[in-house]
Amino acid sequence: MRDEVDYLPISMLNQLAYCERRFWLMCVQGEMAVNAPVLEGIQQHERVHEGGVERDGEAVVRRRVYVWSDRLRVAGFADVVEERGGRLIPVEYKRGRMGRWLNDHIQLCAQAICLEERTGRPVREGAIFYWRSRRRVRVEITPELRARTEEAVARAFALLEAGRMPPPLEHRAKCRDCSLEPICLPREVLVLSREST
Ligand code: SF4
Repeated sequence: MRDEVDYLPISMLNQLAYCERRFWLMCVQGEMAVNAPVLEGIQQHERVHEGGVERDGEAVVRRRVYVWSDRLRVAGFADVVEERGGRLIPVEYKRGRMGRWLNDHIQLCAQAICLEERTGRPVREGAIFYWRSRRRVRVEITPELRARTEEAVARAFALLEAGRMPPPLEHRAKCRDCSLEPICLPREVLVLSREST
């Protein structure tokens, strides 16, 4: 299946870093449960996703910038790319508050790597704006985060190549916050798999 997937959507790295089964459900099976929080996120993203260029003082702000990496074989849109004092800063907009997991950081880092490849300029930081808390979090694009991001890309292609849906997580907190829980049925699947062994 790896060869069928030309370039992996960057947003799918976010899903994978959260849960490999969620990545599979969304990337391979095209599942998306549109509940109220998801709908809110889509509407907020639509506002950001209108595209265009504007000035914010000395900064140039570009919205909905398409980026890709031929080396990593990933592609997608950066919500915003700011240019401030000669620095390029990708900004990702997320509904809700900052989560406890690194998935948003990995998505942002993939955008940074793509921007570097497209522009030939180093990208040392990015930012994530959380709508609900109205908080902008600065994210340093560290070697460790780059390594985690490249691992996520490799893992995504490995899963696609293996061609099998990963088992559910045994992680109540993540499953409780996951919009695909009614489709994934993690508890039921885990009980059935235990009974059959
Ligand atoms: S419900 Fe849990 S196991 Fe299923 S996709 Fe969501 S996070 Fe993963």
